[in-house]
Parts: sequence; C-alpha cells; structure tokens
Amino acid sequence: MGETFIPLADLRYAAERPRIPEHAAPPSGLLADRLGRPLRDLRISVTDRCNFRCSYCMPKEVFDKAYKFLPHDSLLSFEEITRTARLFVAHGVGKLRLTGGEPLLRKNLEVLVDQLAALRTPAGEALDITLTTNGSVLERKAQALRAAGLKRVTVSLDALDDAVFRRMNDVDFPVADVLRGIDAALRTGMAPVKVNMVVKRGTNDHEIVPLARHVRDAYGPGVILRFIEYMDVGATNGWCMDEVLPSAEVVQRLSQVFPLEPLQPNATGETAERWRYLDGGGEIGVISSVTQAFCRDCNRARLSTEGKLFLCLFASRGHDLRALLRGGCSDEQIAAAIGLIWSEREDRYSELRGAGTAAAGSGERRVEMHYIGG
Ligand code: SAM
Ligand code: SF4
Ligand code: SF4
Repeated sequence: MGETFIPLADLRYAAERPRIPEHAAPPSGLLADRLGRPLRDLRISVTDRCNFRCSYCMPKEVFDKAYKFLPHDSLLSFEEITRTARLFVAHGVGKLRLTGGEPLLRKNLEVLVDQLAALRTPAGEALDITLTTNGSVLERKAQALRAAGLKRVTVSLDALDDAVFRRMNDVDFPVADVLRGIDAALRTGMAPVKVNMVVKRGTNDHEIVPLARHVRDAYGPGVILRFIEYMDVGATNGWCMDEVLPSAEVVQRLSQVFPLEPLQPNATGETAERWRYLDGGGEIGVISSVTQAFCRDCNRARLSTEGKLFLCLFASRGHDLRALLRGGCSDEQIAAAIGLIWSEREDRYSELRGAGTAAAGSGERRVEMHYIGG
C-alpha cells in the first residue's frame, strides 16, 4: 500500500471529524451546552501569520524563519467562512469577531467583511461584526473595511512609550503607526474603537497610567481602553503567574490618578468588567481571565484558520468542520454536527485553573493564540 501523505500543518493540533447526527432538529437558536450556556459569539481566525512577534503570543525563538505556517490551500476560503458563519448564526450567534494572527494580513479581507455583513439573524437583524488587529496596517485599510460594513474595531496596543512598544512587538515596530491606525478608524466613523493592552508585570505595567491618560486626552469617551491579564494560553510563551498583574491592581493604580466607579455589564457573557471615570472622561474595561474566571457565561466558539472548531481558548482538540465543508456535506448536516458538538461542550478551563484543579490536559499540546485568535 502507498503511504498516505498528510501535510505537517494538519498534524499540529488534534481534530476529530465531527459526527453528523441522523435525526437532528433544525437549528432553533436555543442551543445550550452541558452547562446551559448558549452559543452567541463566533471568533474567526483568518490567518495564522503575523508581522509582530509579541513574546506573550508568538515568541521569536519559536516563530522564526523555519516555522511552517499553514499553506494557503488549507485556509478556509471566504465563501467557506461565510457559509460556516451562516450556520452558526442559525444556532444563535449574533456576534462575529475576525482575528488571527494578524487579520489585516489576509488579502482582500474587506471582501469577507462584505459577505459577513450581508448575513442576518433569524429575526432579520444585522450581525455585530468586529475585528481585532495590531493596527500596523489599519491606517491603510480602515476606509475599505468601513465601506464593506465593519462598524467597530479593537486595536491591540501594549504601550505608549515607543521603546517599550518596539520591545514588546519584538520587530521594532513604531507606536506612531498604530496611533495613526486608530485615528484612521475613528475618522471612518467606527465606534466605539477599543484598545487592548496586555499587561505584563515588570514589562509594561508602568505604561498603564500614561496610556490611559493619552486615550482620555486624545480621544475622550470615543475610545475604550481595556486591560487584559497576561494569560497562560498555548505552550510557547513561558507564562508564569509572577508576570500577571491582577486587574484589581490595575483598577487601584488607575483610580489613584483618575477616580473610577463600576458600571453594569452591557450583556451576559461579556468578558470585560466595565468602569467609568468619575469626571466623565469615558470608560475602561478590565479582562481578568486569570484572576476571575468567567467560564460560567462563556458563549464563545472559535474557528481556526483551517476550519477547526474549538470550544475553549485553552482546548487542545478541535472539531474538523473543514472536513465536512469540503466533504460534500449539506448545510443541514453541518448545522446538525455543530449543534451536537456544542450540546456536548463542558469546557471551563479558567474556572478549574482558579480552583487549582486545571488538568494539564491529556498531554496534548494546547492550541496557540495566533492560530485560534483572541
Ligand atoms: N494580531 C491581532 C492583535 O494582536 O490584535 C489579533 C490576534 S491576537 C492573538 C488577539 C488578542 O490576543 C490581542 O489583543 C493580544 O494582545 C491578545 N493576546 C495574545 N496573547 C495573549 C496572552 N498570552 N495573554 C493575554 N492576551 C493575549
Ligand atoms: Fe501578532 Fe497579535 Fe500575536 Fe502580537 S498578539 S504576535 S500582533 S497575533
Ligand atoms: Fe470560555 Fe474557556 Fe475562557 Fe472559560 S477558559 S471563559 S470556557 S474560553
């Protein structure tokens, strides 16, 4: 017998071909997992490539010239992504987030935005579509993305100080270009623009107040700054708890300079805890993925660049939807498979980590952030 050739990229994370149940009811939008959590949010990674090498995500030593990124034909096409998104929408998803890698490196991304913006929920409503980007080419792309139907954007920015920022992206990329990207997004009318800062104790925690001050002074309430706890995603970033600055400390440090009061969440399952400047300077958010698990309301699914469905950011095993998409399955069959996968979901990694019982897993390598998206 001849050898079966399996491209290396397909071997990096285990994925099962999903089972198609025989007598599934059509999607009702009422799908719930084993812990009663609905499916509301789909994060779609459109590329595993990135022009930055943030050490907490794609450390240079691992993601070097020899690293094999996914070959182009293994990526889902825009049509495949839109078809999959439509089936998730039928199951209750109302929010889509494009991510990566760096999503703006995927050629003609505005064409995908245009296709996704045409989707409607069963009630006939447009979807909430957003994008997370490192901002490096946002200045150039903002107008086309807005014209295609992107209404809001999240830009990652870990420091205002140029030297600190260049060190953190590890490719010597200047902060001024990202700030121009934010300006460009605001000029197109995208709102709100959110800015995400991953805080690493000892690396950029001294930038919390300067960045907050800059966002308040330069933009006012039109830009929402969010502080993210450094997470133990993947297996390459050498994470240790000592480098996590708890959100409570972020709020404490900020409120010494700019007094804050808590705000109610906008929606169930929202990852950020909201705070408001007492002087009317706008709001900030803190995302406490490490110190305060929010698995109980987690309604997010993630679709990898090559069409594998992951039910948790810390999963090591995906569900190979691409096999169904390219295997001649009907929409009904794929929707039924998605329904079954979600109904069996019981992931709650952060809660277990918090309780000190996080299983190191089955020994399988956990999925990397640049592959699955944030
Ligand atoms: N390249 C885009 C960007 O940086 O915005 C999108 C993909 S990136 C993986 C999505 C988000 O994940 C970013 O805001 C990034 O800062 C965050 N992120 C990556 N690794 C992280 C980690 N170890 N802990 C916390 N956040 C992380
Ligand atoms: Fe690239 Fe975003 Fe990861 Fe930084 S966080 S390496 S910008 S994918
Ligand atoms: Fe959701 Fe997994 Fe994060 Fe918990 S650890 S909030 S289940 S993605």
